[in-house]
Amino acid sequence: MQMADPDTILLIEDEPQIRQTVASALEERAMHVLHASTGREGIAIAAAQHLDLVVLDLGLPDVEGVEVCREIRRGSTAPIVVMSARRTEQEKVTLLTAGADDYVTKPFGMSEFLARIQAQLRRARTPHRTTLSVHEVDGLTIDLPKRIVRRGAQMLHLSPIEWSILRTLAIHAGRAVTHQQIFDAVWSREFGNPSHYLRVYITYLRRKIERDPASPRVILTEPGVGYRLGFTDD
Ligand code: CA
Repeated sequence: MQMADPDTILLIEDEPQIRQTVASALEERAMHVLHASTGREGIAIAAAQHLDLVVLDLGLPDVEGVEVCREIRRGSTAPIVVMSARRTEQEKVTLLTAGADDYVTKPFGMSEFLARIQAQLRRARTPHRTTLSVHEVDGLTIDLPKRIVRRGAQMLHLSPIEWSILRTLAIHAGRAVTHQQIFDAVWSREFGNPSHYLRVYITYLRRKIERDPASPRVILTEPGVGYRLGFTDD
């Protein structure tokens, strides 16, 4: 493997101690970290520099986190991972709609945080391949180009709607997909409550594809928000 340039991460966080802890963890993974302690500073850096990823704290002194997210998204396609204190589910949905790709709730474990950062960087590196890729999750193979789902050598037969849901999660592997986003991708807007309707299909799907449908590892629930594809095997 050839050595790539280090990934440049913009870290927007007003609390120096948290900023230092997160920055050190990222730098240990050979990432280049730019610091911003206010929303305005973060927006300015994002407008001026090429970034591979943004880590955004929501509790900033000057600008609302959602606004910072929207403003950065206007000019950049870099993944945005939000760090927040206790937030409501509705706020998470608002954030994902404003262009955030993932979020962690404080206090968070550093290894999970880094896994999410790596997943976003990997996803951003191969944007054109996402619809054509093969995903391995907890021993399950989701082959998008061949439209095949199998566990080991055993082929699993999904209904068209089940396939469409799984495909939507796989295309967005590495990020939470809201009920509404899945719903829009699979059905049309004319139906009623998406979360109720989806739950039924997710149950069917899990029975077919999970090792243990009672503790799913392929389709993870984001409470009140939606679902995500589990972490890939690597
Ligand atoms: Ca803060």
